[in-house]
Amino acid sequence: MIMSELYGSMVFDDAVMARYLPEETYAELKRCCASDLPLSLDVANVIANAMKDWAVEKGVTHFTHWFQPMTGITAEKHDSFISPTADGGVIMELSGKELIKGEPDASSFPNGGLRSTFEARGYTAWDPTSNAFIKDGILCIPTAFCSYNGDALDKKTPLLRSMEAVNKQGVRLLRLFGRKTERLNVTVGPEQEYFLIDTEAFKKRKDLFYTGRTLFGARPPKGQELEDHYFGAIKPRVVRYMKELDEELWKVGILAKTKHNEVAPAQHEFAPIFTTVNVASDQNQLTMEIMKKVAAKHGMTCLLHEKPFDGVNGSGKHNNWSLCTNFGHNLFDPGKSPEDNAQFLLILAAVISAVDKHQDLLRIAVASAGNDHRLGANEAPPAIVSMYLGDELTGILQAIADGRTFSRRAKCEVKLGVHVLPQFAMDSSDRNRTSPFAFTGNKFEFRMPGSAQSIAGVNVVLNTIMAEEFSLFADELEKADDLKAGISAIIKRVMKEHGRIIFNGNNYSEEWVAEAQKRGLLNLASTIDALPCLTSQKNVALFERQGVFSERELRSREEVYTETYCRLINIEAMTMLDMTNMEILPSALSYKKELVKTAKSSIAVNVDASAEIEISVLLAELINTARKRVSTLKSALDEAHGLGVGLESGRCYRDKVIPSMTELRKTCDELELNVAKDFWPFPNYGDVLFSVH
Ligand code: ADP
Ligand code: MG
Repeated sequence: MIMSELYGSMVFDDAVMARYLPEETYAELKRCCASDLPLSLDVANVIANAMKDWAVEKGVTHFTHWFQPMTGITAEKHDSFISPTADGGVIMELSGKELIKGEPDASSFPNGGLRSTFEARGYTAWDPTSNAFIKDGILCIPTAFCSYNGDALDKKTPLLRSMEAVNKQGVRLLRLFGRKTERLNVTVGPEQEYFLIDTEAFKKRKDLFYTGRTLFGARPPKGQELEDHYFGAIKPRVVRYMKELDEELWKVGILAKTKHNEVAPAQHEFAPIFTTVNVASDQNQLTMEIMKKVAAKHGMTCLLHEKPFDGVNGSGKHNNWSLCTNFGHNLFDPGKSPEDNAQFLLILAAVISAVDKHQDLLRIAVASAGNDHRLGANEAPPAIVSMYLGDELTGILQAIADGRTFSRRAKCEVKLGVHVLPQFAMDSSDRNRTSPFAFTGNKFEFRMPGSAQSIAGVNVVLNTIMAEEFSLFADELEKADDLKAGISAIIKRVMKEHGRIIFNGNNYSEEWVAEAQKRGLLNLASTIDALPCLTSQKNVALFERQGVFSERELRSREEVYTETYCRLINIEAMTMLDMTNMEILPSALSYKKELVKTAKSSIAVNVDASAEIEISVLLAELINTARKRVSTLKSALDEAHGLGVGLESGRCYRDKVIPSMTELRKTCDELELNVAKDFWPFPNYGDVLFSVH
């Protein structure tokens, strides 16, 4: 198929709508989307019918409201278009009511106390700003998911609210510069890292199967030390996978753009072209699903876990984020005139202030059991939030703050609104790859999110904290007699109070941890350290003020994420116990038995058996240690179970269960290195990491 026919062929997009809808309906839909007005049922009926006609022409018989509960993955329930007629036949129908609203049972999704099982009703509501699409022969209608009293039960609703908040406050601030901006959009391009392994290897490892990551495994002789995988030639089987992935993504209107090998063996990266954050978020969810499906067709398994293998890099999801007006003006573009520059520096000041004040929220937004393995290890940003602006921009801001003249490369005196600032287009050699939140020329790249996480959460935080700063700045500047003096005063104050968040050095170094502590920056090392901060007084007030979360909604999230953490670690621990008792120990015992048998027969004929004996003795010791560690892990688990699934048990998982898992793993990995390969019950690291040829 040629590209123009392929791209968007499974999307009910603008072009299709223009073709299938009467002119006035199309105009009405556009008007309602642009101004967030509700659609009348009449208009919805016409749209629903057109959507159904389009889908039926493509052989579709079912539709679903496609939504994103707090699990972080998507949910769907399929209904057919079929409707009986009086004469005993059937017709295919989709009513406006069915398009706009659905009623899935809300009680079986995590809700953090927002719904109880006896009051299970929740509803899904069509989000017309994200296009409907066809997936596996089903018409998918993107929707928000709420309880009957309006509490958000999903990831989309708060994202839409946060977009509205930053739009409202941003437009207000831009008005002060005489701009006629009608709408401020958030644009995001997420870079997605993943591993591809052969499914045969995958199926033989219960840890990968149940948890998405390896819980055992001695280091293979070769890992990523030769640095030969990053941007290396892509293996033909992977090339075929990537080609089909591109095509499948293009069909559903996702602008798949970049693909390359990543640092670790079997690790790759995918990136689409950026788009409006709500759509980017929906599309990233869909991308993850399609990545897995296409992999299966090629006999491979796509691992999206943040840390599938110890000892090589884990996977992240860089959230490239910027703010763009309806006239296409990117607020993080320094611009060419002095006025543009003053605005740009003010917007930067807002980011600096927002990130410093709300380090906790950015950290919480990326907190998960999987991501705990990444943050703070020497491959990903640390758990400490800081931002990178580069020396030049930092110098300019600092000069304004100090009332000094800045001259380096630019040789310009910095006086706001008088001089044109130098262009900051940074080439990639300039970039600081270790920073969690880096300015990259015309956007910020937030590098802490984990590869498996929905990007909705981090963008809710980014949008909300920016809305807050914009509103504070606008409050102040609307009262100022002189705009430039007002801006200067704000920049000065921000640099003084929040300049500590800027760090252009190496974030992976030990010195930074000490320096950050001196600066008073937060270091929330694990998910369980981070989550309780979500409902602090500051955060409840912030989210309520910006209309993004009510206190109830925030509490429900804290509860759901804490529970998820406990449950995930519990599954990992149980899987370890299973694998140790049912696979590793029996294999080690069989090998020992074999060695003892050999030793005996050697001795019988007067042949030296010291090797067999020594290895058997070592195995016996390791087996005993493993058994002890199994029982320590069991007791830790019992203790955690006794504490329920709240914060207290979360702490027990973190402090007792995880360390016991680490100890058990050490012994089992030692066993792996001393048991003959033929006896080992599952593929080792080398087998899995190099399983795709
Ligand atoms: P890198 O060198 O980090 O890979 P790229 O320029 O390739 O940088 O961009 C990575 C991602 O950032 C892509 O998804 C791209 O579409 C996105 N991106 C580029 N500009 C913007 C922007 N203004 N807003 C949001 N995302 C952007
Ligand atoms: Mg990037």
